[in-house]
Amino acid sequence: MGQGVNTHPLPTLRADLLARLAEPRVWDLAVVGGGASGLGVALQAASLGLSVVLLEAHDFAQGTSSRSTKLLHGGVRYLAQGHLPLVYEALHERRAVLDAAPHIARPLSFVMPTYRWGEQAFYGAGLKLYDLLAGQASLGSTRFWGREATLQAVPGVKAEGLRGGVQYWDGQFDDARLALALARTAALHGALAINRVSVSGLIKQEGRVAGVQACDTESGQVFEVQARCVVNATGVWVDGLRAADAQAQGQAVKPLVRPSQGIHLVVDRTFWPGENALLVPSTRDGRVLFAVPWLGKVLLGTTDTPRAEALLEPVPLKAEVDLILQEAGHYLARQPTRADVRSVWAGLRPLVNSDHQAGGTSRVSREHRIDISSAGLLTVTGGKWTTFRAMGADVLKTAAGAGLLPPVAAQPAPCLPLVGATQDASHHPGLAAAPGWHGYGSEASYIKDMPGGDVEWLPGLNEAMVRFAARHEYARTVEDVLARRSRLLMLDARLASQWAPKVAEVLFQETGVDPHLSDFEALAERYAHCP
Ligand SMILES: Cc1cc2nc3c(=O)[nH]c(=O)nc-3n(C[C@H](O)[C@H](O)[C@H](O)COP(=O)(O)OP(=O)(O)OC[C@H]3O[C@@H](n4cnc5c(N)ncnc54)[C@H](O)[C@@H]3O)c2cc1C
Repeated sequence: MGQGVNTHPLPTLRADLLARLAEPRVWDLAVVGGGASGLGVALQAASLGLSVVLLEAHDFAQGTSSRSTKLLHGGVRYLAQGHLPLVYEALHERRAVLDAAPHIARPLSFVMPTYRWGEQAFYGAGLKLYDLLAGQASLGSTRFWGREATLQAVPGVKAEGLRGGVQYWDGQFDDARLALALARTAALHGALAINRVSVSGLIKQEGRVAGVQACDTESGQVFEVQARCVVNATGVWVDGLRAADAQAQGQAVKPLVRPSQGIHLVVDRTFWPGENALLVPSTRDGRVLFAVPWLGKVLLGTTDTPRAEALLEPVPLKAEVDLILQEAGHYLARQPTRADVRSVWAGLRPLVNSDHQAGGTSRVSREHRIDISSAGLLTVTGGKWTTFRAMGADVLKTAAGAGLLPPVAAQPAPCLPLVGATQDASHHPGLAAAPGWHGYGSEASYIKDMPGGDVEWLPGLNEAMVRFAARHEYARTVEDVLARRSRLLMLDARLASQWAPKVAEVLFQETGVDPHLSDFEALAERYAHCP
């Protein structure tokens, strides 16, 4: 079905969305949390004909789902750990996402440089297995390169001691824009998805979960939202709702999630020119290092630091910055310094806490976990962006199996093209290229006709795009626009700060509410400076 493609964009007028939320009705499904996990559940349920409401306390993807490395991958590291079913599933999901959203998800070639004897054969064998597991979903075969070919393909790599390289394929995407595409496609299928509505508690009837209490964080208006099934997809915050549920039953719960922080440093392409990404599967201290060309810059990452507190805006640590700069210096021809960093940001992985997995968070399972409480609250967490569809399908199947949703929920959902998906993406320059109209896919011509569509402020940012963000993409604040509709905050925080007043002006014309310019300027200041 092509409903996601070439349809007139739905309006996201907040007053209308809130009026729908206030209607007295019982939804089949209420999803709490608008990140990859919640949106994946909502889209699949809506496409199967279930009535769905999704409530996001802040903005779609404002939690972890806008702070990933933006890779659609099976996980070369999980291969080395022997998690073959996890890798197999992710490789097939990778293909499905690339097909459903070719305007914001593209294949990407990776190179693993080799410096030691035997490394090429070792990594090559693993990657051949990766190809084999991908089967029909493969994006290209693994190839072995000698020293000269590697230097040509990845001119930014450290030449000293280089023996060769192994090239393989994975996918990359724009995480926050994919989240928006999921929300908007779910809305096309009748779901009510709304940001800035926080769930404060659960409604119980005869001891069973029967809905949620929610609050519009802009106006303070409260809502009682009745639903047959409630899914807690709040990422690193899942234990809050689980505890509220258990307390009402007079029970205690063990925490399900351990937050593990990962940071990224963003530098200019001159540090890593060319179209290939760098993967070092095991640095000197046993970590994975990436240098990924993304939207005209390079992402250097990442870390895996256990954190006790789950902040919405996690703070990068000095030690994490030191580590990435130091490791980058071992593999990049030109070592970046703090002064070269255009933006620094952190995200929290919701790693599933298992009694069997003690030790550092890099060894805690990356697989998702679904849990149903005795009162019927369904919680989903863990997993990764790449497998959001498989997680969604699992959640619906579990809910149907528990009698919380009708049997139709257990059926595989169709693989839908998402809003903006183009029939022919052969002219797409790839996600390594600077942002531009191509990121809007089939909606680009509609936006070009909006006021200000003919003047480009910056690649991937102009007046019409801001108006479109407010009218059709749920944007309310400068941060919504510059962090998650455009990705300028994450690419170049100082530049984002310079354009913020202009964005605020247009946004205010559209929404009539305070676009929180000064909050954004303070945030951009933090992103611009490495600790
Ligand atoms: C550094 C890093 C790199 C990563 N790289 C990759 C990668 O390259 N590829 C990949 O596949 N995966 C990657 N991941 C993993 C992936 O990003 C996460 O698994 C995924 O984004 C988690 O999504 P989520 O929906 O579970 O959580 P979140 O995105 O955090 O969403 C939860 C949402 O719930 C909302 N919420 C919380 N409480 C409430 C409430 N009371 N009411 C309403 N809403 C509420 C929050 O505001 C939030 O938006 C990475 C993760 C990190 C941290």
